[in-house]
Amino acid sequence: MDNALVALFGIKDCDLLKTEEASENGKTYRRISLTYSGSVEEFCPNCGKKLYKHGTRQLNIVDAPMGGLPVNIDITFPRKRCLDCKTMWKPTFENIDENHKMTNRAFLDITQRSLRTTFEDVSNDYMLSPNTVKNVFVEFLEENKENLRFQTPAFLGIDEIKIKKLGEVTVITDLEHRTLFDMLLGRNQRTLTEYFMNLPDRENVLWVCSDMYRPFEKSISTAMPNAHWTIDHFHVVMKANEAVDSVRRKVQDSMNKKERIQTKRGMAYTLKTRRKGLTLQEAELIRNARGSAKYQPMAIAYDLKEAFFDIYDDNPSSKDNAMRAFDEWVQSIPKDEIYDKFRELAGTVYNFYTQIFQYWDCPIAISNGYTECMNRLIRENNLRGRGYSFEVLRGRTLYRKSNLNAIIKNGLAIGPQIDEYAPVFHFDSTKEDDEAYEDDDYEPFPEPENDGDTETKTTR
Ligand SMILES: [Zn+2]
Repeated sequence: MDNALVALFGIKDCDLLKTEEASENGKTYRRISLTYSGSVEEFCPNCGKKLYKHGTRQLNIVDAPMGGLPVNIDITFPRKRCLDCKTMWKPTFENIDENHKMTNRAFLDITQRSLRTTFEDVSNDYMLSPNTVKNVFVEFLEENKENLRFQTPAFLGIDEIKIKKLGEVTVITDLEHRTLFDMLLGRNQRTLTEYFMNLPDRENVLWVCSDMYRPFEKSISTAMPNAHWTIDHFHVVMKANEAVDSVRRKVQDSMNKKERIQTKRGMAYTLKTRRKGLTLQEAELIRNARGSAKYQPMAIAYDLKEAFFDIYDDNPSSKDNAMRAFDEWVQSIPKDEIYDKFRELAGTVYNFYTQIFQYWDCPIAISNGYTECMNRLIRENNLRGRGYSFEVLRGRTLYRKSNLNAIIKNGLAIGPQIDEYAPVFHFDSTKEDDEAYEDDDYEPFPEPENDGDTETKTTR
């Protein structure tokens, strides 16, 4: 019997007393009763004196569901006590997590299931409360924290996302592999410096790409001494879109409500679309604006925005030419007050001049542009779970069922892959996965609604 129990449950040194289907609150489950049959200590491990019998106890644990039924296991075991030093002896069980009152494999299985379905569903499979399932999930991630780390990126992206009820979340990516690396709650110099100081192999980070957030400077130079800091062009050109918006709003200010709404509907999106992405209709809207005194500033703003994007697009390999193009662009901003937002953008570029143009020195093309797509998915993931705690959201976003085991066993893996034009966080499921789970096609992260050019058509 012993061998069968080892094979079925991984539990050694026990005999099977009985197995039966039982029910509780209308739910059927399998109850398995075992009794300890392993060796019993004769002498006190503490003082060496003789141990005396001290009754029996029962350990109640849950195991992974079998044959579609939740499994509960009772193990009866003896206790012994030293009369001299009062040391209590009891057997230790392999593969059982006595703290969580479950087998080790149930602990992993609950976590894996929680990555794919709701805590509620998992709790039904296990006859545990949803809250217990959630706690197991969070504790598993916490206990395996050291192993559940991805390889420190050489090209590291830092981005920020605001999540309802959680506030600011810093999203860290591996820009070389286009994978998610980590998420942390908050965004200030202290949090970031502390996080990066504790990053293993932090000296391996060569490039950090982020938005224009001055406190990064200190965090990066302190914690990642070999890293160059560069500003992601995505965040820079976004400012040009904001400037176009500001011009449109100012033009709309002089309109009546109806015209204002019409203009917004017709132009807001069009103005932020790249020239090459305009439909014939949209192109005509801009052409018409050019010829109308009232609308003209929007067309001029559009050209300024396009010219700003072109600083990057037309000079992919020459930093000098890009710098020159920027100078020319600054000169081309009309003096009128309505274009102040573009002058403001020029000022921002001067403020971060080194970091912005350092972008051209980076040996690989790095950009956080795709994180916009990822950020939306993090938000959606959060919506689906309605008010996840940060730890739950982080776990559900960073880890997939199929990679959890692999990370724990081998460490050093890369995070979930992010691909602009495909479902995010896709992982090839292993063969083992497919056999063990029928619900493998469950996809907790919905596909992006719009698989087009998210970089230029995103509104913030
Ligand atoms: Zn003793």
